Amino acid sequence: MASSPLRFEVNSPNRVEQRLRIVLLGPPGAGKGTQAARVACRFGTPHIATGDIFRANVASGTELGRTAQEYMDRGDLVPDEVVIAMVMERLAADDCEAGFVLDGFPRTVTQAEALDRRLVEQGSPLHAVACFDITEDELLRRLAGRAAAQHRADDAEQTIRHRLEVYSVKTRPLIDYYRHRRLLTMVDGVGKVEDVTGRILTGLPSSNGGRDPALALAV
Ligand code: ADP
Repeated sequence: MASSPLRFEVNSPNRVEQRLRIVLLGPPGAGKGTQAARVACRFGTPHIATGDIFRANVASGTELGRTAQEYMDRGDLVPDEVVIAMVMERLAADDCEAGFVLDGFPRTVTQAEALDRRLVEQGSPLHAVACFDITEDELLRRLAGRAAAQHRADDAEQTIRHRLEVYSVKTRPLIDYYRHRRLLTMVDGVGKVEDVTGRILTGLPSSNGGRDPALALAV
């Protein structure tokens, strides 16, 4: 395909070769993991999911896993300094030169500020933050389904309610944080998986400052 004026050029029907640095934001159960994997695949960037990294560390019994487990099981956030150190190390890996899709980080303003500092130092700021818009009823329904399917301790009903409260208090302020920085796109998180992916891609900025619906066509 001929090069376009877009920042994220489409080189083949299924692949975008330009770097993309994006954060997916949203409450537990909003579909961040599913969508992050699809967007990362589409752009050929790593999908960095802090929850998955923690669960892998719990499973292999590392010190990080032991530290994180008690917080996760209660539905609390792992302390900022632990998460920030882990993500900064991950972002230093070579594969992140291709960009990244962050899923589950940042979750607090302190984490967002640490991410900003790192990316500014590197001269490679975020392109976009997509935040899922979804009702609490829909979240509770999905999380109950996930608890049954995946046996995640933190998907027990009591813990789910606590995680939603934690989201409201600690993570929701990031919506304004990124809105002020003109990075935020709200995405309707209800509907078919591929439709939601299309909405995320449609909301990405293009170099002419507009939105690029053409990107959604090749999902
Ligand atoms: P979900 O988005 O469905 O809540 P995740 O898999 O993203 O699930 O996260 C699971 C748990 O891992 C969180 O409830 C929290 O305990 C921990 N965790 C993940 N990311 C972070 C983060 N950025 N800061 C603090 N804790 C985190």
